[in-house]
Amino acid sequence: MKFPIYIDNNSTTPIDPKVLEVMMPYLTDKFGNAASKSHRFGIEAEAAVEHSREQIAKFINSEPGEIIFTSGATESNNLALKGIAEMYSKKGNLIITSPTEHKAILDPCKYLEKHGFEVAYLKVDEYGSVNPEDLRNAINDKTILVSLMIANNEIGTINDIKEIGKICKEKEVLFHTDGTQAVGKIPVNVNDMHIDLMSFSAHKLYGPKGIGALFIRSKNPRVRLVEQINGGGHEKGIRSGTLNVPGIVGFGKACSICSEIMEDESKRLVFHRDRMINRLLENIDHCYLNGHPQKRIPGNLNMSFQFVDSEGLMMEVKEIAVSSGSACTSATLETSYVIKAIGKGEEFARSSIRFGLGRFNTLEEVDYVIDRITIAVNKLRKQSPLYELFLEDRKS
Ligand code: PMP
Repeated sequence: MKFPIYIDNNSTTPIDPKVLEVMMPYLTDKFGNAASKSHRFGIEAEAAVEHSREQIAKFINSEPGEIIFTSGATESNNLALKGIAEMYSKKGNLIITSPTEHKAILDPCKYLEKHGFEVAYLKVDEYGSVNPEDLRNAINDKTILVSLMIANNEIGTINDIKEIGKICKEKEVLFHTDGTQAVGKIPVNVNDMHIDLMSFSAHKLYGPKGIGALFIRSKNPRVRLVEQINGGGHEKGIRSGTLNVPGIVGFGKACSICSEIMEDESKRLVFHRDRMINRLLENIDHCYLNGHPQKRIPGNLNMSFQFVDSEGLMMEVKEIAVSSGSACTSATLETSYVIKAIGKGEEFARSSIRFGLGRFNTLEEVDYVIDRITIAVNKLRKQSPLYELFLEDRKS
């Protein structure tokens, strides 16, 4: 086994060696600018970009022309929310989302609230799922956009996106989804799911960082939005800037690998995940699974270990790379707003750990993590006055 063991694949995934291999020529000899088509270098780069666009489009069942390259899902979310808000501000000012979305949705929403838009946050249930009927009731004639994620980045819960998309279609409201944690992990078909816009990112599916996409539906309905980056008119004027050709080539290859192996990979990850959930629940008292037990992305488990502080636990198992909550919120040392939104309270939030199993984890690593976490939780509890009090209370 190689240490440290990486079990934080919801934060980012390592590049698949097969992805790196196809990227290498575009980092060396084939360095052309895809917009400089007066010579071979540019023409070659453009052809590679278009090939990749086709691979990505095929993977989500869209048309290649509906894929706009961005720097990642944060930018795609900003483009979708602000671009739609600006385009449709005369029609209405209501955006509907939920409190468990990633900050890359919540922060642009806050920005829009400061600029005259209203944002409605649908409540989520104990697993973090939105009830589609709540959405139906919240849509009114001022609604210009619904943005609800496919799968949550912290607790892994998968929303009923097909039903949500159907309601938006019936009500003739545009539907954006943050597909970052789902694309490459579970089947995502933008037509079956009635998705009008979707953000996703290469570095969550074994591609490189700094490259993502926004799917923008071109017909039924034709979605229009206002560009947020001006300067040269690249990507049909929707997102200016010299294209990240090696990143795009890697993104395309990463999607095509996922489309080939996702079914088998997902079975293996579910086996690893459920083994870890079941054994941790068996081994450790007062240990709880956050998120939906079945409707969750294959590699994700999020557990709260009562009486144990997650920061302390992570320090104790330094040879295992896991995270408390999401990477983006752990930078701010804030306990998880997602765990709090599902009604579990501060104590659960403070003691929660996210394990993200991925393509390159082995069963041996999974078993090592189960044993190490069990030992560490027991050790930390022995040092916890709260746990001691709890045991005494139980005795009396
Ligand atoms: N949305 C979700 C659900 C995510 O998990 C992430 C990555 N943490 C993002 C958006 C941001 O993606 P990126 O890193 O590509 O900007």
